[in-house]
Amino acid sequence: MPADSPNTSPGPVDQRKRSGNGDLEEREPKRSRKTESSGESQPSDQAAIESMRSKLLKHSQKNNALFYIESPASSNSKCRFDGCQSNIREEGFRVAVVKENCRSPLYYHVDCFEKIADFSKTEYVNRLQPMDRGEWHSRLQRMAHDPSTQLRFGAMGLMDGNTCLDSGASILIYHWIRSMRSLIARRNGDPEEHIDPHLLDILYKSGSSSFKPTKPDGMDDSRYDRLIHNFAPIESDGVDDKKEWNLFEQYVPCKFEDFEDLNRTDSLSSMLAAWSLDKVLVLYSPDRLTDEGKELREAIGEKGTRAIKRLTSGAL
Ligand SMILES: [Zn+2]
Repeated sequence: MPADSPNTSPGPVDQRKRSGNGDLEEREPKRSRKTESSGESQPSDQAAIESMRSKLLKHSQKNNALFYIESPASSNSKCRFDGCQSNIREEGFRVAVVKENCRSPLYYHVDCFEKIADFSKTEYVNRLQPMDRGEWHSRLQRMAHDPSTQLRFGAMGLMDGNTCLDSGASILIYHWIRSMRSLIARRNGDPEEHIDPHLLDILYKSGSSSFKPTKPDGMDDSRYDRLIHNFAPIESDGVDDKKEWNLFEQYVPCKFEDFEDLNRTDSLSSMLAAWSLDKVLVLYSPDRLTDEGKELREAIGEKGTRAIKRLTSGAL
C-alpha cells in the first residue's frame, strides 16, 4: 500500500509491527498537523542546499527532466538529498527525477525535494507529474521502444510493481499544481490557464447531493462516469447532509489566495502526509494500530472512512 515520504511514517501504528515515531497530532485542522521528519535525515547547511538547488536546476534544464510523484513499489529506494539518504518507505510517496536517456531516476522524499525545488516558479511546477494510470502506461510504452528496456524497467522500479498513486493522492496533487500555477500567473501578471467550467465543476463538486453535472464537450462517457462517481472529491449522506466530506477541505493546507502561499515550502508534503496517515488509519487492520491510532481512526468517522476507501481503491 502506498503512503508518503518518511513524513508519513504512521505514528499510530503498533510499534511491534512497524517503526514510527508515535507523533500524534490533533486532527483539526489538518493543515496544522506537523509532518514527521524525513526519517533519520539531518538538516544540511545552507551552502549544501544551495549547491543541490543549483545542480537540480542545471540538471532539469539540460535533460528535460520530469519530477514524478509516485508510490514506491518497495522501501528500497534511497533519498538523494544530502543529509538524508534514508530509505523511502513503501507506505509513502516519493519524487522520481527522471532524465532523458538516463537509466536510473533520482529519488527524494517529498519534503526533502521541497527544500531544493523552488515551486514558486513555473519551471519547477510544470515538471511535476503525478504518476496516475495514464502516465504510467505512457511511460511504459515509451520505455518499450528503448533498446535497454529491461535494464530501464528494472532501474525504474516498474518491474517490481505498479508505482501509480491512488486516485485521492492524484486528485490532491493535480489540485495543488493547478492552484500554484494559477497563483504564479497572477503574481507575474500572466493570463491564467482556461479550464472548461463544466470540467472544473466536476472536479470540485462531484459527489455532493446538490450537484448536477454537465458532461464537458469531447469527454468520453466512461471517463465522465468515473470522475463523477469513483473519483468524486465529496462524500455525502444525501440531501439532508449539511456537513458533506470534502477531500480538499480535509487535506489541502492553504487556499492559494495569497502570494505568500507560494513561499510556503511544505504545502505539498504536508498535504500528502495527512492523506497518507489517514489511509493507513483506515486501511490497516485495527490490531496494527495503537490506542491513539484507533482514536484517530474513530475521528475520521463513517463518512470519511467510506470516502477514503473509495479514493484509494483505484488509480486516476
Ligand atoms: Zn530524504
